[in-house]
Amino acid sequence: MLDWLSDDQRALRDMAAVFARKEVEPVANQIDAEERTPDELVRKAAELGLYGLYTSEEYGGSGADLVSVCLVSEEIAKASPSFAGMLTVQIVLCPRTVEILGTEEQKRRILPIAASGERLMAYSQSEPGGAANIAAHLTKVIPDESNDLGGYRIDGSKLFCTQGSARTYLVMCKTKDREGSEGYGCVIVEAEDEGFKVAPYEHKLGWRGTNTGPIAFDNVYLEADDILGDILTGGFSHRAANTANLLAHCAVSVGCAQGLFDKTLEQVKQRRLYGREMSELQPVSFWLAEAHGKIAAARALLYDTVRAFEAGTMQPAMSNVCKTFVCETAFDVCVKLLQLWGGSGIMDSTGVNRYMRDARAQCVAEGASEMHYAIIANQLLHGQPTLVPSNIVKKG
Ligand SMILES: Cc1cc2nc3c(=O)[nH]c(=O)nc-3n(C[C@H](O)[C@H](O)[C@H](O)COP(=O)(O)OP(=O)(O)OC[C@H]3O[C@@H](n4cnc5c(N)ncnc54)[C@H](O)[C@@H]3O)c2cc1C
Repeated sequence: MLDWLSDDQRALRDMAAVFARKEVEPVANQIDAEERTPDELVRKAAELGLYGLYTSEEYGGSGADLVSVCLVSEEIAKASPSFAGMLTVQIVLCPRTVEILGTEEQKRRILPIAASGERLMAYSQSEPGGAANIAAHLTKVIPDESNDLGGYRIDGSKLFCTQGSARTYLVMCKTKDREGSEGYGCVIVEAEDEGFKVAPYEHKLGWRGTNTGPIAFDNVYLEADDILGDILTGGFSHRAANTANLLAHCAVSVGCAQGLFDKTLEQVKQRRLYGREMSELQPVSFWLAEAHGKIAAARALLYDTVRAFEAGTMQPAMSNVCKTFVCETAFDVCVKLLQLWGGSGIMDSTGVNRYMRDARAQCVAEGASEMHYAIIANQLLHGQPTLVPSNIVKKG
């Protein structure tokens, strides 16, 4: 499979596989149990250049393509889907949003230190009114009229922001410009900004290597150059960054299922039941065969979609098709594979049930499957692959 990969892509995949085996796997259970990613691992990922993988070379990255990013995500997810899931936000979603929306000054200010891992980023859209339901979002940016410096103020709160050790937050929110027009923009909030708060860690089912929680803005001052892109449309006009991230997210699900499959295959090969090899039980071998086929199908769909995306030939809503099929398939496969471990799969000590929990989180993070089905259905029925309300921008 993937026999079309270039030598560079293969080399990168091999490098990621070694990193995953030597550095991620030994701490993967610890990440899940202690619900945090060790600083040392973040540092090693930075040394390897992972945070700058998808950032253009002129801004301190290595300018790899999305196929390479997916290969790396898959390899790391085989060891720790939780760590890999957090990485895609920092490798793909945030830097690509800045590259699409940012001015030259903003790109030079933000991207090199993000690519080196010195100052990581987070992306925040979800609100209590629903993550995708942006019409119901309440966090608002309005012009600061207290002086003539051209600044803004942000007030409100967000939910489920995956942070890792992020210091720079890209926040999607309702906006108002100086002419009174309203829209949905993207602003930069720094962890040190006065009035910005991050809630304490909240325990969760999967993706436990990172804090995913509420953040709040109490009249936080924003300089004019903290507005990323058009103040009225920046929040939804960086779709290529969202799509690329969605596909890298799918690669995490493929790696997650493959990681559990590899461990389960070894377990089945060495386990004896009723005085014979467990693998001789035909239903067990059939389950393995079925899981193998489903993972292969998910991987084929993923890389086919990624290549079409990169070539500019991806059909509308195909990234949503990919997200639902790949993530839900990976979860189903993980549930079934875990069953082959019997009671050992339920025990945390074997370090396998985390795959199923991370696979579940993957089906909600980056949009619940039903939200993606709604987009696919919109495309099929109305030729519109979007849920963004057309009246979100109102001219003043
Ligand atoms: C581990 C993790 C990490 C996350 N990280 C981030 C992050 O970094 N930044 C960020 O902004 N958000 C993040 N999220 C939030 C995530 O994007 C949302 O949880 C997800 O999009 C679902 O939105 P919601 O929780 O608001 O559910 P709701 O929108 O309240 O939906 C609830 C349920 O309703 C159904 N539903 C929703 N929409 C539709 C629809 N259109 N049609 C039919 N049924 C529908 C689905 O079953 C859905 O699960 C993260 C979530 C998780 C679990």
